[in-house]
Amino acid sequence: MRPIHIVGGGMAGCEAAWAAASMGVPVVLHEMRPHRGTEAHQTDGLAELVCSNSFRSDDHETNAVGLLHEEMRRLGSIMMAAAGPASVPAGGALAVDRAVFSAAVTRAIAEHPLITLERGEVAGLPPAEWDSVVIATGPLTSEPLAAAIGGLTGETSLAFFDAIAPIVYADSVDLSKAWFQSRYDKGETEAERTAYLNCPMSREQYEGFIDALLAAEVTEFKEWEGTPYFEGCLPIEVMAARGRETLRYGPLKPVGLTNPHQPDVKPHAIVQLRRENRLGTLYNLVGFQTKMKYGAQAAVFAKIPGLENARFARLGGIHRNTFLNAPRLLDGEMRLKADPRLRFAGQITGVEGYVESGAMGILAGRFAAAERLGRPCPPPPAETALGALLGHITGGAEAETFQPMNVNFGLFPPLEEDIRKGRKGKRERARAYTERAKSALAAWIAASEGAASAA
Ligand code: FAD
Repeated sequence: MRPIHIVGGGMAGCEAAWAAASMGVPVVLHEMRPHRGTEAHQTDGLAELVCSNSFRSDDHETNAVGLLHEEMRRLGSIMMAAAGPASVPAGGALAVDRAVFSAAVTRAIAEHPLITLERGEVAGLPPAEWDSVVIATGPLTSEPLAAAIGGLTGETSLAFFDAIAPIVYADSVDLSKAWFQSRYDKGETEAERTAYLNCPMSREQYEGFIDALLAAEVTEFKEWEGTPYFEGCLPIEVMAARGRETLRYGPLKPVGLTNPHQPDVKPHAIVQLRRENRLGTLYNLVGFQTKMKYGAQAAVFAKIPGLENARFARLGGIHRNTFLNAPRLLDGEMRLKADPRLRFAGQITGVEGYVESGAMGILAGRFAAAERLGRPCPPPPAETALGALLGHITGGAEAETFQPMNVNFGLFPPLEEDIRKGRKGKRERARAYTERAKSALAAWIAASEGAASAA
């Protein structure tokens, strides 16, 4: 059987290789280190964690990333198998000794009879004779390959910096102060009418907000991250430092909107939140990409009327990243529409984080292997963490404003109204999400195994 070629031996590439080989399909895994390094990797080990040593919460009952751990375990994840013995005490989090973890993954890959590890950079589009390829080269994809992918997808679809604006859960916005309206009332459908949420500020509130923004502590860029900023995605605190009125003439301009709670009072400034996903469960703060430290962000954003008690699915940030506009470019099985022999997996698909990247590697490996074996491989249900993330990057997210995403319950289809009303509190709702996900995953695994044994 011809092998699947997987490019990049990070979280996603190792998971993809493991998943495909576990289905009996041979794999060649290409990793450029140690011949060529990246700005962040320090070793030549596979699955190297470049920064934190944590896979975040391991609570699979009330936490979305913990649920993703559990779903990965059920699919035979090599990361989760290696993480157990490599774990270090970290409360409810799953944290690992990074050297032990990387060594365990490297050893497992090297010893798998169906996986061949080739060290060397894939310095351009994979050769035509590789008829099934998974590109999992991560946020620091080497330049020649990034340029080749850019050429194939169009430059505007391959970003090199994350301009991450914070994202809030829609149900935590105070609608006694905020309201839904598109500027100049553009839009006729329900989806268009709820495209924006608006938070009004009086002059005093605006001045207090600017003071807090200018005083907030920021994270310094690492040298290699290569400032200067792009004018199009300046951090909000940099814009504010250019003049106290700059934001009122930029993202906070109070025009084309009427506050239904106080129709006779013209707001001095208006913060707009734009819908992040089709479900309408998440909204991002327009123009709020920021390098403020996380603690400072929470304090500054709480000054925005309507967001005093907002829960954040993700805080803001800017750092070097290479990711595709996946909702526009990839099909439901993570293939590039423009060249379906190429699949993408990991952070380059616009998910964020070690765990999410590994999870997308598992799916890409399974899709590629099933295709090679001529078997059907339906995507995991949207109610699972795997399915919710996959659905987000391959169609659920708005392509125009696509930004990298962590797993969170806002990506899942909302709970049935009766469950929502019958259960009290955040933890109980989270439990309802995870219970539903586990049943859906079990049914999907059973159906997939049935299809495999019938084939
Ligand atoms: P990676 O794990 O980066 O793996 C990609 C692999 O591809 C690398 O081994 C690379 O050497 C190889 N490669 C690249 N180009 C080529 C090529 N042309 N040919 C062959 N091989 C190639 N996530 C977190 O969850 N927590 C954090 O604390 C965190 N901190 C981060 C800090 C920095 C500075 C950066 C850049 C990222 C950070 N991330 C963090 C994100 C994290 O890197 C990713 O979520 C995760 O590692 C992505 O997995 P991946 O498999 O997609 O890419």
